[in-house]
Amino acid sequence: MQDNYDVTVIGGGILGCAIAYFLSIVTESSIIVIEQEKNVGLHTSSRNTGKVHAPLYYNPDKKSSTAFYALKGFDMLKRYCNLHKLPFKEDGVIEVAINERQIDTLHKHVQWAHKNGLKNEDVKFLNKDEILQIEPNVKCQAAIVCFRDASTDYSLINQKLMEDAIRFGCKTSFQNKFRSVYCNTNTGANRKMTIIGTVKDITTDYIINATGGNSLDIAHNLGLAREYTDLHFRGEYWMAPQKYSNLTKRSIYSAPRYTEYPFLDPHWIIRSDGRCEVGPNAVPVFGPYSYNLYDNLKNAVPKIFESANLGILKLVLNRQFLRLVSDEFLSSVFKTNMINRVRKFLPCLNPSDFKQRGRAGIRSLLVDKNGNFVSESLLVEDESSLHILNYNSPGATGALPVAIDIVKELVQKNMVYGNVSRKINFPFKDEFE
Ligand SMILES: Cc1cc2nc3c(=O)[nH]c(=O)nc-3n(C[C@H](O)[C@H](O)[C@H](O)COP(=O)(O)OP(=O)(O)OC[C@H]3O[C@@H](n4cnc5c(N)ncnc54)[C@H](O)[C@@H]3O)c2cc1C
Repeated sequence: MQDNYDVTVIGGGILGCAIAYFLSIVTESSIIVIEQEKNVGLHTSSRNTGKVHAPLYYNPDKKSSTAFYALKGFDMLKRYCNLHKLPFKEDGVIEVAINERQIDTLHKHVQWAHKNGLKNEDVKFLNKDEILQIEPNVKCQAAIVCFRDASTDYSLINQKLMEDAIRFGCKTSFQNKFRSVYCNTNTGANRKMTIIGTVKDITTDYIINATGGNSLDIAHNLGLAREYTDLHFRGEYWMAPQKYSNLTKRSIYSAPRYTEYPFLDPHWIIRSDGRCEVGPNAVPVFGPYSYNLYDNLKNAVPKIFESANLGILKLVLNRQFLRLVSDEFLSSVFKTNMINRVRKFLPCLNPSDFKQRGRAGIRSLLVDKNGNFVSESLLVEDESSLHILNYNSPGATGALPVAIDIVKELVQKNMVYGNVSRKINFPFKDEFE
């Protein structure tokens, strides 16, 4: 069976579905989303912390675009959630310093927050006594409270974006895993390609690769981004029992121990439905879907061979990185180790009360030839494909504005049959002006 589409979006996570949503609304192109699973959003987009992150932790000199999209994402998600009656709880977040050194980090974060566009009233610095007044169970040296931070359920948003895209004509092909692609005609911009999938093949003019943890492999398959490799980190959670439901009013994040690895510190999380969890840590695993031991070992051999890559070798020989990684392993194997990291600021937690693991999610981070993590997401393209690589936290927060910018750019470059003048009454009309 073979189908023809102008644009094929590979990957039905929140980003692929947001791109498909905008493409279906503002263009006349025929669009299909191909997804390897039975449904959309079964991987990172439903296996995260569910926070609509304010741009507090992102260094404006290194992560300006991440911060920009997080700032814009808040308003857009709020509008979208209100429209569809999805959870969007403006509950705010607290970041705590547990020692003197981390107080400097908090001051730095307040500066970053303002440089990244947050207003004075959005972020407040609190001393030890002030924090005790609003969160009596939190023990710390100082804290910042950010009021412009929210909790949501990204899997519901992901699902709704897909439904909306389908309403506007987008087609889907589920359980159809991208395997490879070949070019039918090789004449520059008019190139026709056939995507070989596990269920059916699709002929297309343009490919958008939004496959999260698999996106680098697919880019490599098309001969792109060869200078990068990736490492995968499983973020694990422990669910807190009911008795801790009213422990704090807000989620509590600790100032990162190492600002260059901010994903390493577990937090106290209150989800949009009120459930509380501790997590995530960041345990190195061999693949983007290594949720359990079996899947992890399956990916071990290819990843070990790939790790002969110079960038990864440099990274694993880095002593600080090795120490951090061994800490993360301990927190994966020993529950007490993980809960104790959060007990530093919530001392009343008792590790033996935590009986059930939450749903783990996997981050896939790009590493360059020099063994450095790439700090922001990366768009790599050729004349007939676009690959979104390294799309990590706060990727769910930024998915709507990132998708709009990608679609606008494709319209401008005539890669899709744009008809932006087709002004349908949809919530993001102004963003296309
Ligand atoms: C532990 C953790 C916590 C996080 N917390 C937050 C948070 O609180 N707030 C926030 O904003 N962000 C958070 N993030 C980041 C955010 O979840 C991701 O940036 C975002 O979900 C990525 O979306 P995506 O669509 O790019 O990827 P995904 O959701 O992974 O979607 C990619 C899709 O592509 C499909 N696919 C892959 N390969 C193929 C193939 N060969 N053929 C067909 N389909 C394929 C997959 O099945 C999947 O459905 C967190 C991430 C992690 C890991």
